[in-house]
Amino acid sequence: MERTDRKPRQAQEATVTGRTELSPDMVRLSLNAPGLRGRDLAFTDHYVKLLFAPAGADYSWPFDVAELRETREPAERPVTRTYTFRRVDTATGDFDLDFVLHGDEGLAGPWARNAQVGDTLGFLGPGGAWRPEEGYEHFVLAGDEAAAPAIAAAIEHLPAGTTAEVYVEIAAEGHEFDMPRREGVTLTWVPRSGATEGTELSRVVRAAGYPEKRTSWFIHGVAEMIKELRRFLFVDGEIERADASISGYWRLGMTEDGWQASKRDFVAEMEREEQTS
Ligand SMILES: Cc1cc2nc3c(=O)[nH]c(=O)nc-3n(C[C@H](O)[C@H](O)[C@H](O)COP(=O)(O)OP(=O)(O)OC[C@H]3O[C@@H](n4cnc5c(N)ncnc54)[C@H](O)[C@@H]3O)c2cc1C
Repeated sequence: MERTDRKPRQAQEATVTGRTELSPDMVRLSLNAPGLRGRDLAFTDHYVKLLFAPAGADYSWPFDVAELRETREPAERPVTRTYTFRRVDTATGDFDLDFVLHGDEGLAGPWARNAQVGDTLGFLGPGGAWRPEEGYEHFVLAGDEAAAPAIAAAIEHLPAGTTAEVYVEIAAEGHEFDMPRREGVTLTWVPRSGATEGTELSRVVRAAGYPEKRTSWFIHGVAEMIKELRRFLFVDGEIERADASISGYWRLGMTEDGWQASKRDFVAEMEREEQTS
């Protein structure tokens, strides 16, 4: 499928229009961006890159990204944080983003925790690459909370007559949030209950095995879990790579900048290991 995340032309502005607490560690911000009106957004994993001034910067939104990227030292340049459209209405420019509240560290999580109606921020994009395709009988959709918005959007766009198994990792029982329900879709919540992020999800998806039906896989979330489940798919299960969308959305102990900068090496190393297995 052709990707639509070509280099963004220029930053757009979004205004917070609402907030909904989804669970103890997830908040939904509703926003509006006039620049999204009329856009063709056909994927279920469309995402935007929210723009933040780095900690200690002498500027705040609104700012000129291109100019700051040219004139400032790397450490002073705006940074981006990636978030998926849970819903988007290209007639009005309204959209929802669901944020994981993962503590005091970082920029986007703490910003979302405190964001109020009327706040504004800049973003680049949207990009996107995947939607549930015709031609499959079954879908396995798995991820942690960061991937839940894309998984929820995918459930809403499953081709008629298909079935799906959905696995969503959450911190603990009681941290579930609203997910779309559909006939033929089974949803399994996977509580971490203190385990390292991603390990329970890997265990549960692996234990479920390989469906008999012609299956498409969508698996995203913490990078360490992705490494484990790529092995499950491509090495142990000999699944065709074209049948899977699988990538790390974030990495334990790394900011998004650190993860994005090291992702290519992480993926190359994984591929080397998969080939020699
Ligand atoms: C295509 C794509 C789509 C994404 N969509 C979403 C989305 O819809 N909702 C969403 O919440 N996230 C989403 N993410 C993940 C999000 O971009 C990262 O979690 C990002 O690092 C959060 O930025 P931050 O400023 O809060 O933390 P950062 O400054 O990047 O990191 C600070 C610290 O927090 C840790 N951390 C970061 N994220 C998490 C987490 N989820 N749980 C626990 N610890 C964490 C880091 O390891 C680091 O130690 C997506 C990522 C990608 C690539």
